[in-house]
Amino acid sequence: MSVILVTGGTGLVGKAIQHIIETEPEGSRFGKKPGEQWIFVSSSEGDLRDPEQTKRLFEKYKPTHVIHLAALVGGLFKNMKYKLTFLRDNILINDNVLHNAYLSQTKKVISCLSTCVFPDKVTYPLDETKIHLGLPHDSNFGYAHAKRMVDVQNHAYKDQFGCNFTSAIPTNVFGPHDNFDLEGAHVIPGLIHKCHIAKKNGTPFVVSGTGKPLRQFIYSNDLAKLFIWQLREYDDVEPVILSVGEGEEVSIKEVADAIVKAMDFKGEYTFDATRADGQFRKPASNKKLLSLMGGFQFTPFNEALDFTVKWFVENYDKART
Ligand code: NDP
Repeated sequence: MSVILVTGGTGLVGKAIQHIIETEPEGSRFGKKPGEQWIFVSSSEGDLRDPEQTKRLFEKYKPTHVIHLAALVGGLFKNMKYKLTFLRDNILINDNVLHNAYLSQTKKVISCLSTCVFPDKVTYPLDETKIHLGLPHDSNFGYAHAKRMVDVQNHAYKDQFGCNFTSAIPTNVFGPHDNFDLEGAHVIPGLIHKCHIAKKNGTPFVVSGTGKPLRQFIYSNDLAKLFIWQLREYDDVEPVILSVGEGEEVSIKEVADAIVKAMDFKGEYTFDATRADGQFRKPASNKKLLSLMGGFQFTPFNEALDFTVKWFVENYDKART
């Protein structure tokens, strides 16, 4: 019997893992296996910044495996404004989860990092060996340092106690159940919400920046499958980048075009080039992932985006806005 506890189980990535586990054929590579119990928890079951509440959660569920997604997450603006909160909350959450997993002899933990924790000045493409090779970008250094420490902790728990702790490094994620709040959102949910408002109010849809920067986006349901693979088939402390290939970068303009099309927006649509663009590109390599998995069929970007826009429009009342 395996008990798999997913912290942050009610967020964008957690909901996608739940969806895949519940909809893929039972016993298949990504579906539920016999003897598995999956538990998805939110902060309402325990604030993981608090050691006592974290301990109680582990005592209640006695997980054999943990996918640790819970984190204070946000877009650029929120990261810049609340650096200490991002640093401290995430350090506390990660330390409590990893230490309770160690104390309760959890067999395996996969924690979630992000490609935005990589050094600011680094040679591209990013790969798993480059996390600690320089300082992160100043805009998100609180979040980045807290997340990098997870990799350090994983190595220390392995070296001192032999724990099977590892981490995943996703690129930008999008999909249903994302945070569409205009202040805190990442680029895709932020633009979807903006376009929706423009359509509703008959106002222009204005995209910040030139639209030229390139990014790798991964659909949450694809990422969910990769987490399930990592849980079952990967036993090494070194992280794995979970991403589409470098050739799959899309520009912000392509993202905005796809949103306009999916939303059937007919109004005025412009780019505000006076707003900062951020880095032009920061490609990450998925070579390690593909060589270990033996290939993976990613959902085409436009199809995934179309689905996400439809989900947002249909679920506007209950979406995080
Ligand atoms: P969401 O913001 O959608 O969800 C965050 C989840 O964490 C929620 O379930 C939330 O619960 C929980 N949580 C937050 N604070 C606490 C706390 N103090 N105690 C307990 N639970 C808490 O995040 P995502 O799904 O987008 O992100 C999941 C992981 O993926 C994170 O570790 C993030 O760093 C990483 N990641 C995300 C990327 C992205 O583009 N979104 C890119 C790369 C990495 P509640 O709702 O109750 O607050």
